[in-house]
Amino acid sequence: MQEKRKLNLAAWIIIGMLAGIAVGFVFLKVGGTFTTDYLKPVGTIYINLLKFMVVPVVLFSITKGVIALDDLKKVGSVGIKTFIYYICTTAFAVVVGLVVVNCFKGFFPVLDSSVTSGLEYTATEAPKIMDVIVNIFPDNLFKPMVETNMLPVIVIAIFFGAGILASGEKGRMASNLVDSLEDVVMKVLMMIIKLTPIGVFCLMADVVAVNGAKIVGSLAIVVGVAYIAYILHMVIVYSCSVKFLSGMSPIKFFKGIAAAMLTAFTTTSSNATLPINIECCNDMGAEPEISSFVLPLGATINMDGTAIYQAVAAVFIACCYGVDLTIGQMTMIVVTATLASIGTAGVSGAGMIMLSMVLIQVGLPVEGIALIAGVDKLFDMGRTTLNITGDATCAMWLSKVERNNKEKLAAK
Ligand code: ASP
Repeated sequence: MQEKRKLNLAAWIIIGMLAGIAVGFVFLKVGGTFTTDYLKPVGTIYINLLKFMVVPVVLFSITKGVIALDDLKKVGSVGIKTFIYYICTTAFAVVVGLVVVNCFKGFFPVLDSSVTSGLEYTATEAPKIMDVIVNIFPDNLFKPMVETNMLPVIVIAIFFGAGILASGEKGRMASNLVDSLEDVVMKVLMMIIKLTPIGVFCLMADVVAVNGAKIVGSLAIVVGVAYIAYILHMVIVYSCSVKFLSGMSPIKFFKGIAAAMLTAFTTTSSNATLPINIECCNDMGAEPEISSFVLPLGATINMDGTAIYQAVAAVFIACCYGVDLTIGQMTMIVVTATLASIGTAGVSGAGMIMLSMVLIQVGLPVEGIALIAGVDKLFDMGRTTLNITGDATCAMWLSKVERNNKEKLAAK
């Protein structure tokens, strides 16, 4: 029932985008500033709502994630291996995304400055690497939240999560509070996501009215670029992982995981795909106790597809705003997209919300999300498929490690 509502929302977003494009073309012909004066401000309200939710979403979902690491302690080495595998493959995914999107940068348009006006962006000099590291650690609890400076917010979330864990029984109330607040924040987020069709309609109408056809064509290109990166990551990283780490034929693996991949492609939700992913992995010979730990954790924190999407989208938005990203900013994308994908919930459309974190951190205008929001469903289908496939490769690898350990123990 819930999935059905989500699909309806996706349809409305596409309708909103198409209607926005149509209305935009009408005003392109008619002329005047109606879209900029009256539709764009409505879109800005939608973007403001998205922006104000970034801090609470990151704060509560990461604190909750750290509290859940209690389980990681129990499973000791499996937890650490899982975490390292997830982080490394995700960081690699961002690099793949960045390399591919940079090859296609020339196809992306620079938008008319009247669309981007009021969203001024001034290229800042790349900060020194040690300053970047020092600034990750906050000297004040509220300043990073007020300034939407996400890396220190993540550090705050990690420390509070760890503190709650260390407090044991006394921390239980705080843990329940975080759990409850995270739930509330997610509900608010869902309400805002429901406004996406209206926001997309208004913003798209203005973008097209000012820029004409050039933005429409480039959207098709940017979706294609994301899919090239998705496929490359799948072929390079996942095939090598199952071949060399799990000792399995990649063809056999992809055949075995196909049902889960198709489910992910159509539901665009890692969480919804979880049961079928566990079943597919167990059918391929994964150890049930491993898959029931590694896969739920992966559905929450391991999002290679989302990370690729965020890299591609950030570069696309930078191009639209006429910004040439520096190497320092690209590095920042690798760090923040990896962290943002960890903080992304395994539900439809969550990656787009977290994209704002990447944009803020790199110094790009969050308003740029409106340019690609209308085609987010297309990005999401591919990125969710990649997300769950990455989880499955980890489950297969650690199952093999577990089997080897058991054999060693039995031989003693
Ligand atoms: N839909 C994705 C997932 O469930 C998350 C995202 O939007 O990137 O894995």
